[in-house]
Amino acid sequence: MNKAFEFQGVQFKFDNSYARELNGFYTPCQAEAVPAPRWVKFNHELAEELGLDADALETQEGADIFSGNIVPPGAMPIAQAYAGHQFGNLSPQLGDGRALLLGEVIDRNGMRRDIQLKGSGRTPFSRRGDGKAAIGPMLREFLMGEAMYHLGIPTTRALAVVATGESVYRDTLLPGAVLTRVAASHIRIGTFEYFAVRNDVESLRRLADYTIKRHYPELIGRPYIEFLRAVSARQAELIARWMCVGFIHGVMNTDNVALSGETIDYGPCAFMEHFDPATVFSSIDDRGRYAFGKQPAIAQWNLARFAETMLPLLDEDSDRAVQLATEALKTFSEQFEKSWSAMVRRKLGLVRTEADDAALVQDFLNAMQAGHADYTLAWRYLADAAESNPARLRSVFRSDTTKLDDWLPRWLARLARENKPAMEIAADMRRVNPYVIPRNHLVEEALEAATINNDFAPFNQLLGVLSDPYTERDAVHLYAIQATPEQTEGYRTFCGT
Ligand code: AMP
Ligand code: MG
Repeated sequence: MNKAFEFQGVQFKFDNSYARELNGFYTPCQAEAVPAPRWVKFNHELAEELGLDADALETQEGADIFSGNIVPPGAMPIAQAYAGHQFGNLSPQLGDGRALLLGEVIDRNGMRRDIQLKGSGRTPFSRRGDGKAAIGPMLREFLMGEAMYHLGIPTTRALAVVATGESVYRDTLLPGAVLTRVAASHIRIGTFEYFAVRNDVESLRRLADYTIKRHYPELIGRPYIEFLRAVSARQAELIARWMCVGFIHGVMNTDNVALSGETIDYGPCAFMEHFDPATVFSSIDDRGRYAFGKQPAIAQWNLARFAETMLPLLDEDSDRAVQLATEALKTFSEQFEKSWSAMVRRKLGLVRTEADDAALVQDFLNAMQAGHADYTLAWRYLADAAESNPARLRSVFRSDTTKLDDWLPRWLARLARENKPAMEIAADMRRVNPYVIPRNHLVEEALEAATINNDFAPFNQLLGVLSDPYTERDAVHLYAIQATPEQTEGYRTFCGT
């Protein structure tokens, strides 16, 4: 039972456009009551950004709200319908099986943000699941989302993790928790697929119009093909950002692709250590479908599924619609190349353009791969090399440096043609090549201490370090250095659902 009547007065200014405008796209639903909500982690800074009274929320009342026990006034909890291609196969009905959208608020920057509970109990979309979440994966989502945010990558963020006081069964009994997630929206490619598989063109049109209004307002009244191109460009930009920092999402199913262009659904994601495009961490991705190097191609595959849903809106003539969609999809490669090359050139310290720059990038990647170089630190320590100190760069190559030896003089000669002081170039490079990322062994250590020993010091320290990833400082050296092969060997991540 929800204790709405006990509400003390924490104010949310909800404005629930999805519930209001998209009747038929969701089921109103209540969170399951939990026995003993208790604060685990609160994102004060994000609460302030949302215009919420953070102090009033970090109370028992707040824990009651963020566990789902209290529905704050103005909220309208709904479970959103969606479908999706999971590992290549269509599931016509997924939906919020363990999540509830409480509503939307307009943040301090005028942006509309969804506030969603994750792990709040069963909904009509739960299928065989229990609708619940364990505390470990929810803390992981909190941490990874914050890491991405501070790296400057569009992402959903966690506002709160509240322990429920009950156990959930995942092979073994684990403490349960509810995560509160803040997102530009939860509209996914899978949301479009839900109506496409039902041949419900009118709902598709309503959804497209709503999505355009919310995320691509400059395209209101324009042909839908422009919407398709814009969604594609935003995905290209997002994936390029992932590739720049070695982020591996792990479950790029179409239900985990947000139309807003934010990274969403932190399950088995992880950052790559030494550079190898074949890197996969997820225990359920045994074929490497979502390997690091495949992410651009998978994004394009996902966009093809999106384009298929849009066909009836593109043109009345279906041949013409297919032709338009195909042309739009082809531009993804160009869009990705454009985003990636702009970013990666900055990572290499290049501002001027030369014909051989793409080869220079590719050859650095080849050198890293041949030398088992740490992806993060190899990029980072290039700045030292630009200042004539290649020692640290060399030190993060574990083996063969012959390719690096060939490459360095070429790159230094190219940098000389930038006609800028080395110090200036290096400083610019350090602004785009992070010093710290969430290293897998440190993430696991922090989660273990928190969930097994109830010791949140390592988690909070790691979170603090990751809030400033581009500044090198002695105090965080141990967070920055690469893991030993023993620490990384056979590392696996799990969905935790
Ligand atoms: P995910 O793998 O988290 O992207 O979820 C895929 C689908 O499975 C979504 O429809 C989720 O709502 C659903 N799901 C995941 N975990 C659970 C759970 N514990 N109970 C019910 N549904 C779940
Ligand atoms: Mg999902």
